[in-house]
Formats: sequence, C-alpha cells, structure tokens
Amino acid sequence: PSFRTVLRELSNSPNLDFAPSGPFTILDQSVFHKRYLRKMRDLGEGHFGKVTLCMYDPNNDGTGEHVAVKALKHDGGGNQHECWLKEIDILKSLYHANIVKYKGCCTELAGGKVVQLIMEFLPLGSLKEYIIGCKIGVPQCLLFAGQICQGMEYLQSKRYIHRDLAARNVLVENDNLVKIGDFGLTKHIPEEKEYYRVRDDGESPVFWYAVECLRESKFSFSSDVWSFGVTLYEILTRCDPAMNPPKKLTEMLGNAHGQMVVTALISLLERRKTLPCPKDCPHEVYMLMKQCWNVEPGQRPSFKSLIESIATIRQ
Ligand code: ADP
Ligand code: MG
Repeated sequence: PSFRTVLRELSNSPNLDFAPSGPFTILDQSVFHKRYLRKMRDLGEGHFGKVTLCMYDPNNDGTGEHVAVKALKHDGGGNQHECWLKEIDILKSLYHANIVKYKGCCTELAGGKVVQLIMEFLPLGSLKEYIIGCKIGVPQCLLFAGQICQGMEYLQSKRYIHRDLAARNVLVENDNLVKIGDFGLTKHIPEEKEYYRVRDDGESPVFWYAVECLRESKFSFSSDVWSFGVTLYEILTRCDPAMNPPKKLTEMLGNAHGQMVVTALISLLERRKTLPCPKDCPHEVYMLMKQCWNVEPGQRPSFKSLIESIATIRQ
C-alpha cells in the first residue's frame, strides 16, 4: 500500500485515540483536489447517484490511484443535499472488511457547493453485474452471502439500518470478497427505539421491502433481514433477469397496477406467498430465505444467527 493509503487507514482506524487534526490537517488524506481527479469511465448509477472511475493523479504522470467518485445525479433541492451529506458522514463512520471504504471528499465551491464522495474502487463492479450469466457455484454464493451478513451485523452494531440491501448495492472486490455499498437510504436508530418510520417517496425498492415497511413504513433491523433474504434469492438465481424479484412478484400479483401494486403485494406477503426456490438452490438455503420473509419481524433470524447457519451449510 502507498504511504497515502497507510496514513488514511491509520486516521480512519477507530482504535486510535488521536483525531486526524493537528499535524494531520497539513496532509489531510481525505481532501481530494478536483484538478488532480481524472475521469476514466462511468461505473454506474442508481436513483440518486452517479459513480465514476477516476484516477487521482497529483503528479500528473499516470501513477495515481484509481478511486470511485460518487456525486448526486441532480441536486433536486429540498433536503436532498442534506441527505447526501448524511450519506457521506455515515460511510465515513464505517470501517469493516465487508463495507466499501471511504477515502475522502472533493469539495468545489464555484457557483454553489458540490461535494463528491471518494471511495475505494471495486474492480468487479456491483454483484448484480458480476453474477449475471456467470456460473458461480453454490459455495461461492454462500461465501458472498456470509460476507454480506458480516457487514450487516457490523452495521447493526452501529445501530444503522441500511434500507436498500440488494445485489445492485453489493460490490465485488474479487472472486472471494464482496462489500456492502450505497448508504443513500441508511438511517440511524436511536438507542431507545426499535424502528424508524420513513415516508414513502414513490421511488422505494418495494420488492425488497418487508411487509411492515409496505404496510406501516416501519423500518428496523428485522426489515433489513427481510431484504437480505431477497438478496440471497438474487444471488442464488445469479440475478437471472427472468427470475428477478420485481418480475416474479409482479407475476404473482395478477393484474394490479399503479397504486394498487403495494396493496396487492402486502396481501400476497401476508398470505405467505413468497418468491420461488431458485433452480439449483439447496433446500436449507431456501429455508433461510423463508425465515427472513417471516411476516412477524420478531420471528426472523438475526444476522448473527444467519452467519452461523450459512457457515454450517457451507461445511
Ligand atoms: P445510487 O445511490 O445512485 O444507487 P450506488 O452507490 O448504488 O448509487 O452506485 C451505483 C452503481 O455504481 C453500483 O450499482 C455499482 O455498479 C457502481 N459502483 C458504486 N460504487 C462503486 C465502487 N466503489 N467501485 C465500483 N463500482 C461502484
Ligand atoms: Mg444503489
């Protein structure tokens, strides 16, 4: 690792008592200057953000490092900018092997304030892109699933709910390592509370949502477990577009349209109708998905117990 990387890891490390201020302000490793950021190619985009591969090359000789740069697609005003700054702050506070690493920010003051988030670049992109059509075996599926649970358990230990866990928001470092990304919908749950109530803005990933999220906009650690079940389903179907959750669940809904979709979906899930068992998915793994989709949030497994179950199945 470069000197820069080592310094950054040190100043990010939660185990050290010193704050990255004082002498560190001079060589603040988390400040990226726009003039040294060279765009290489687009990496992807979701509802709110756009991510670009850049080389950060202060020497201007092609020896710089690759970084992923995320920016708001369009600053839609309202509290969007505030939410964006929150997303950056949340990622900054996370440090785990299965969570994408924060590197810093690039702030531009010319004509308003544009802040870009700089993260480590994961060369194999999102799990969704990686896994489509690729013939990874069940053991590798379970390895990834276990790592996602590890990242989620850590997230919960910091009292965060992710709210958008899905294959498109998991990133692939290499054939043996995935990390959770995209903390755009993440919320902090105060110590004394068990859930967070969020108003639906009509752009929610409803086919990954637990029944109580659809019914009462109630998000909790258990609703993330439900979404993990859907993500596990995506992994075992290798993200086959013909099997994807929106498509399969819509087929099961019959001819509900528009506003009726959510109502019909709630009724479907309450009747314990679930996504089908993927083709080569072992029975025990499908049983785990079904446990994650228990209508009663308290009956769903914890990420800790999912880690153990997955490890047992892998043996
Ligand atoms: P949004 O909030 O708009 O959904 P994401 O953070 O999910 O944005 O990023 C969108 C896409 O960009 C991802 O699905 C993935 O394909 C790609 N991407 C995001 N972060 C990285 C990264 N660190 N390395 C490589 N690709 C990334
Ligand atoms: Mg996303």
